[in-house]
Amino acid sequence: MTTHVPRPINQVRAGILIVGLGGLGVPAAVAAVRAGVGRLGLIDPDPIELSNLHRQVLYTVADLEQPKVSAAKRHLRRISDQVEIQSYHSGLNLTNAESIIDQYDFTIDATDNPLTKFLINDICVALGRPFCYGGVLGMTGQAMTVLPGYSACLRCLFEEPPEDDEIASCRDAGIIGPVAGAIGEVEAAEALCCLAGKMPALAGRMLTYDASATGGIRLTPIAARPGCRCGAADKVMTKAPLD
Ligand SMILES: [Zn+2]
Repeated sequence: MTTHVPRPINQVRAGILIVGLGGLGVPAAVAAVRAGVGRLGLIDPDPIELSNLHRQVLYTVADLEQPKVSAAKRHLRRISDQVEIQSYHSGLNLTNAESIIDQYDFTIDATDNPLTKFLINDICVALGRPFCYGGVLGMTGQAMTVLPGYSACLRCLFEEPPEDDEIASCRDAGIIGPVAGAIGEVEAAEALCCLAGKMPALAGRMLTYDASATGGIRLTPIAARPGCRCGAADKVMTKAPLD
C-alpha cells in the first residue's frame, strides 16, 4: 500500500539533490519525499555500517553493508511511489559535481566532508543554484542557505577549507543523532521553501543548535564578504532572487 503524499503547490517535477545519505541526509530525504517533491537525487559512496544505525533512522540491520543510496531509495519508494529517485553510488567530486548538481533545483549539503562542502559551494555559485549547508559536530549542528549572488556563501565565511588535521579532530568528536535529525529536517524545510518560491529563513543567516544548556538556539547574520567570488557583496540587488 502506498502512503498518500500531497504534491507541491507549483513545481510538481521540482528536484532536490541530497549529497550524503547519513545522519543529515536521511531525515532530509524522508521529509522531502513526504512533502511530495517530484524528483530526488541521492549521492553517497559508502555502505551502511552498524555504527550508523543510531542516527541514520531509515536503515535497519537487514541493510548492513549495502550501499546507502540503494537502501535509501528502496525505503523511500515505500513511502511514496510517486517520487522519481536517481541514485549515484559515488562520491561527489570534481569530475561529476557540475553535471549532477545542474540537474536539480536545490542541493542539500548533508556530507561530513569539508572539501565536499566547498565543492558544493563552488559549483552552486558557478551555476547560480541555491543550496543549504549543514553540519553537525558533537551536540552542535549548523545550517545556512546560500542563494548565490544574493546571500553569503561558505567562502564569504571561510576563504579556504580546513586543514587535514582539523578535519580529523572534528571526526573524533562524534555526532549526537537527534541533533543531526533536527538539522536535516531544517535543510529540507529550506529546500521546500525555495521550491515554493519563497525566501528561506536561513539565507544569509547561520542557525546554530547546541543541544546542551549552555548553547541553545542562535541565528547569526552572515554578511557577504567583499571580493568573494560569489559576488553577493558586490551586487546591487534590484529584486529578490526568487521572484
Ligand atoms: Zn561568497
